[in-house]
Amino acid sequence: MSQHPENEFELSNDEMHLYSRQILLEGWDIEAQEKLKLANVLMIGAGGIGCTSAELLARAGVGKITIIDADTIEISNLQRQIAFTSNDLGHYKAEVLAKHLQKINPHIQVNYQNSRFDESNADELVRHQDVVLDGCDNFSTRYLVNALCKKHQVPLISASAIGFEGQLFMVESDSACYECLFPKEQHANENLRCADSGVLATTPVTIAALQAHHALLFLGLGLTPLRQKLLLWNGLNLSQRILQFEKDENCPICQAT
Ligand SMILES: [Zn+2]
Repeated sequence: MSQHPENEFELSNDEMHLYSRQILLEGWDIEAQEKLKLANVLMIGAGGIGCTSAELLARAGVGKITIIDADTIEISNLQRQIAFTSNDLGHYKAEVLAKHLQKINPHIQVNYQNSRFDESNADELVRHQDVVLDGCDNFSTRYLVNALCKKHQVPLISASAIGFEGQLFMVESDSACYECLFPKEQHANENLRCADSGVLATTPVTIAALQAHHALLFLGLGLTPLRQKLLLWNGLNLSQRILQFEKDENCPICQAT
């Protein structure tokens, strides 16, 4: 942080106006807002989760957001991926979302990569982040994101939505991890992707809003309400459960860190 000039920490008059309703909040002062301005967040996936989550972080004032996604926009995405319009069909999701966020908030820096999060780029992307938000659509990426966050000791807030149901949890460097919660071998044969199954328009948007909310609590106030806890949201009866999970002694990811 010492390489930043002093004035980079401070909010301009325009920023004070833009974020005034947050700064007015009891328990959320200028200091919390300045922490957001200094924060680096990586958003993995620019789909149903990423569109909503990244937009809320941009509006709230997270200073640097990086988005990675290899997919292009298809007509069936428009039902729930709220950053995209019919004019964007065929364009890269990460790029369109990044430009959308930059228009919403010119005071922040938005970077994007139109590529898949994989072994070739993962280290470079994850290190130096203050938090990683996972909103990807497949298990293999989720395991990789979890492993890299553990390796670089970067907190992870992971969200998923399918059908009428959503899940959200947080992993920190010394907490139980995604592989403790869902051991890899038990999911080796599962190939369930959002692309292959139904999802109501509102399900990913709801879970993504909770993910962004948790990220703001963490970045601004240092709160970790879902650390080592799994939130399960049921979109049919609107109930929500929070389950604590424990470290698995046999987890290869936790053993390695
Ligand atoms: Zn683990």
